Amino acid sequence: MNFNKFILFFTFCLSLTRTASADIVLAKKDIWVAISPKIMTAIIKSKLQVFNPEKIIKGTNENFYKVKEEDLLSLGRFIHHAFKRCGGFRVLSSPPPIPPDQLAFSLVPKSIPSVDHGEFWPNELDKLIDAAYTIERHDEVNDWFNNISESHMNAMITSLSNYHTRYYNTPDGINALKWIGSEWERLTSIRNDMHVEYFKHNSFEQPSIILTIDGSDPIKKNQIMILGGHGDSINCDDREASLRAPGADDNAAGIALMSDVIKIMVEKNYRPKHTIQFIAYAAEEVGLRGSGELAKLYHQQQKRVIGVMQFDGVNFSGPSYTMALFADGTSPAQDDFVARLVDEYVKVSWAWEKCGYACSDNFSWHMEGYRASFPAEAINPEQDPFIHTANDTFEKSNFSSNHATNIEKLAIAYLLELDK
Ligand SMILES: [Zn+2]
Repeated sequence: MNFNKFILFFTFCLSLTRTASADIVLAKKDIWVAISPKIMTAIIKSKLQVFNPEKIIKGTNENFYKVKEEDLLSLGRFIHHAFKRCGGFRVLSSPPPIPPDQLAFSLVPKSIPSVDHGEFWPNELDKLIDAAYTIERHDEVNDWFNNISESHMNAMITSLSNYHTRYYNTPDGINALKWIGSEWERLTSIRNDMHVEYFKHNSFEQPSIILTIDGSDPIKKNQIMILGGHGDSINCDDREASLRAPGADDNAAGIALMSDVIKIMVEKNYRPKHTIQFIAYAAEEVGLRGSGELAKLYHQQQKRVIGVMQFDGVNFSGPSYTMALFADGTSPAQDDFVARLVDEYVKVSWAWEKCGYACSDNFSWHMEGYRASFPAEAINPEQDPFIHTANDTFEKSNFSSNHATNIEKLAIAYLLELDK
């Protein structure tokens, strides 16, 4: 078989496997994706027809490609096999709006920030932020720690990983996110200052779930603190998006951690000064699509977000460090504060780490110039080897949420110490 015929055959097989499943509806719509030159070089070298871009715009650190939405699956699969990771590309929620060189200049860092934080390019709202980053609420923070409930988290991880998959465009994936919304409604039902929104995205059905706790201070209520993590899952092991994707560590545990903090806020009858939002993002595993759309919208609407923390991969422990703090796609000022909170309150061994690509939703906020931080379960060489496979089960954490309590403590300290 010559190469062209092989490509045709390969594409034909792909389209067969896609249409064979009634659950999967991959639109033939055009979308824009940003991909690093390193990944594109590997795609070209592989000679596989991973996707077929109609239009290419060159940027400085990423290039922008107009592709069919259905190509995301083969693109994700290729990156998983070649680079042993999922994602590695970003889906833009709208076409690059300004000339490409300018776009690359204004939105993309010149180089990946180094582990000692690198550059941060704040948006115009950043100068309005008056976060003092002081540490002074010891009694309350330590008191909240007593309410951390591993059994609550265990139940939530079990329920979420029991969905066959939480892949963004499957009925199960849509139902799983709606279930998170109903859980958050249940946890907060006695509070009339807490509201759950099922955010409707422009181009896919899986909703992002947003729990808003209204700020009680007349001025600070216009400033928003965001704690977020993705609710979807993926299996990039094989050719079909219909395969089992329990996503227990990635990222049922992150959602469980956030849910436990929500539960404690209600138990403590905490009335924040700032408006606080917990967000379970849709469609993270397919190019940060949920958070990308939200962060862009918040910026367009001039929402004053004073800080974002991402929870994605919190319950798998490596042998050396208990925690890693990612120092790229994050804000140096807030990262410094977060590092001090770890030392002050969590008191575990940790190391700076570097992601090297748009690896989680913090990147979406970072790209819009908001201050984000991303603490994670382990340093890169010791990360959970089961994520994005059918084996990312709760069993791999011995049915325990104990490791996640470290990052939950950090979440509590961050919430209370930033909200003053
Ligand atoms: Zn994840």
